[in-house]
Amino acid sequence: MASVLTEAFLDLFYPHTCPMCGQYIEDNAPAVPQRERILCGDCLHALPRTEQALIQDNDTEMTLWGSARSRAAAKKVLHLDHAAAFLFFEKEHPVQDMIHAMKYAERPEIGFYLGKQAAIEFQYTGFFDGIDVIMPVPLHPKRLRERGYNQSEYIAAGLSRITGIPIDTTHLTRIKNTPKQALQRGEQRKQNVSGAFAVNHPEQMYHKHILLVDDLLTTGETVRSCLSAMRLFRGAVFSVFALCKAR
Ligand SMILES: [Zn+2]
Repeated sequence: MASVLTEAFLDLFYPHTCPMCGQYIEDNAPAVPQRERILCGDCLHALPRTEQALIQDNDTEMTLWGSARSRAAAKKVLHLDHAAAFLFFEKEHPVQDMIHAMKYAERPEIGFYLGKQAAIEFQYTGFFDGIDVIMPVPLHPKRLRERGYNQSEYIAAGLSRITGIPIDTTHLTRIKNTPKQALQRGEQRKQNVSGAFAVNHPEQMYHKHILLVDDLLTTGETVRSCLSAMRLFRGAVFSVFALCKAR
């Protein structure tokens, strides 16, 4: 899939404005290609980082544990090793505009950029140690056709670019087209994503350590539903990277 992320393709998006503050990004530093500078310097500095890669039993992990309720239980039930989000997501915060542009305004390169930035910052914590493969949460084929791209795939591509860990988009698929989650709550959301995912050729993923990549983690139901489908990957262990975690 990385072929869609060719430099020439990314060049189509430029020039542009900073998706957080709207400031025009000028091509005033030719040493760094303009496509590498998605955010202005001020916004890059001000990103609401969670620092969760350094925190054991962080908020993202506890959200994913769900009814497992403890690190040990999550490891046993979900085969979950570790998890972290890069940024906090808050409504009415400029991050919301940026994520919206990434998901709905045809600026997937924001995902690629933030994936790379997160990998650069997480790398020294050991977050990627032992991971064999990176898997973005898939979109349903119908949704993918409508949107034209899977934003989580771009985030995963950014992580992969820095870490060198390969991406896989074939072994996990979405078989149920669920309504947009932003419009739902609690129990309804849980029912909607239950059984939404399926796996292909699970035997090829036996005993792998898989990093699942999501764009915005809220209740954790989508990720738990993926983990549930991937139980067929015998002996596999899972970790989770979320670009954003809702507070
Ligand atoms: Zn800015």
